[in-house]
Amino acid sequence: MSDLAAFRQETRAWLAENCPPGARGPGEVSNGSTKIRIQDADTRQWLGRMVEKGWTVPTWPKAYGGGGLSKEEYVVLLEEMRAIRARPALSSFGTSMIGPTLLEFGTEEQKLRHLPRIARAEVEWCQGYSEPGAGSDLASLQTRAVLEGDHYVINGSKIWTSGAHNADWMFILVRTDPDAPKHEGISFMLLPMDQAGVTVKPIRLISGQSPFNQVFFDNALAAREDLVGELNKGWTVGKRLLQHERSGMESLMAGSTGNRGFGGLPDVAKAYVGETAGRVADAAMRDAISRYEMDSRALKLTQRRVVEESADGATPGPATSIFKVMSTDLEKIYYDLATALRGSQGYGWEGDAFTPAELDDLRKLMSSRAASIYSGSNEIQRNIIAKRVLGLPD
Ligand SMILES: Cc1cc2nc3c(=O)[nH]c(=O)nc-3n(C[C@H](O)[C@H](O)[C@H](O)COP(=O)(O)OP(=O)(O)OC[C@H]3O[C@@H](n4cnc5c(N)ncnc54)[C@H](O)[C@@H]3O)c2cc1C
Repeated sequence: MSDLAAFRQETRAWLAENCPPGARGPGEVSNGSTKIRIQDADTRQWLGRMVEKGWTVPTWPKAYGGGGLSKEEYVVLLEEMRAIRARPALSSFGTSMIGPTLLEFGTEEQKLRHLPRIARAEVEWCQGYSEPGAGSDLASLQTRAVLEGDHYVINGSKIWTSGAHNADWMFILVRTDPDAPKHEGISFMLLPMDQAGVTVKPIRLISGQSPFNQVFFDNALAAREDLVGELNKGWTVGKRLLQHERSGMESLMAGSTGNRGFGGLPDVAKAYVGETAGRVADAAMRDAISRYEMDSRALKLTQRRVVEESADGATPGPATSIFKVMSTDLEKIYYDLATALRGSQGYGWEGDAFTPAELDDLRKLMSSRAASIYSGSNEIQRNIIAKRVLGLPD
């Protein structure tokens, strides 16, 4: 038996024994925040076991709390998890954004200080990029950081900061040289959220929720040793982090469907539209679902091919913008279809007349609209594809 086949066998046996029933199928996933307690006992147990194994971040080196798996072993693990519908034990800004960025740009001291805590789900991060005057034109950011002794003193404000109210740390882009051309005076640093100089104000949405915030810095402090990369070279670090964010690397390697409910359209259609000889009864709906299924599979295969072509399974470069545009368009199509297939049952906002799945998918349809804006709008992604992938002139 090959090493990989043996690894598959061991992994399958370990998962069967250690993944509790409550950690399979849709449900709670830890994001590591110290401010959110995991409600479900099975989810808590699953996280503990995966942390022990290093499989919250399977490909990170063991020295930083990872599992040290090769790209091939990682694919096997994801395939085996998918086969039993195991949820990821941890999904956080730490695992998907700042962790991979520190692996590339961090000093050894930074890696040892921050990565094991991310791997052990002891910390959640938020992303301090956008400002009231700097969104798509991110390099116009004005939040200032000035070195005084052992600390950078930060003043200014960030906006649309997802999860800042539950985050323990922030990775932030700040202006450290106001006289340099705008891309060259920016630095990337890390700062703790629980300090007097940081104020988090929730932004309330029409739904009543406040998933994001405006964050104010009034002489907030970032330790000198938490500058990542060189002073004034933060644009390079910040751009690379966005590629990790846009790649969707966590779910793409084995075509995993994550925790979003993707992939269930034929079942929804059969339940609501009916079926004839095992097929969705309505030909137009059947056609729309097939197109969605084919496009999502084509995307997953393309993602997997690009990753396999890159060295050691590393996050690809500007091609991640293609993934971002395609996956966010597909997310909208999925929820449009999931609600349309249910007819009037698909458009309930509250009440006993609707099932939890009906109510949940309508909310997801609403929030899917934001997907083509966050992490850089899809127009900006198309600009990147034109310039950096297709090589078209500015
Ligand atoms: C749900 C959600 C969560 C978010 N979370 C975070 C977070 O955690 N941290 C963070 O830092 N930010 C976050 N953001 C902010 C997000 O990154 C910005 O909203 C985004 O970059 C767009 O910036 P803007 O809102 O200022 O719009 P603008 O930049 O003002 O853009 C307005 C419109 O003009 C278009 N446009 C602008 N410039 C161009 C151009 N050159 N070519 C073509 N079209 C253009 C845009 O595509 C958009 O349609 C979040 C946003 C959302 C919706």
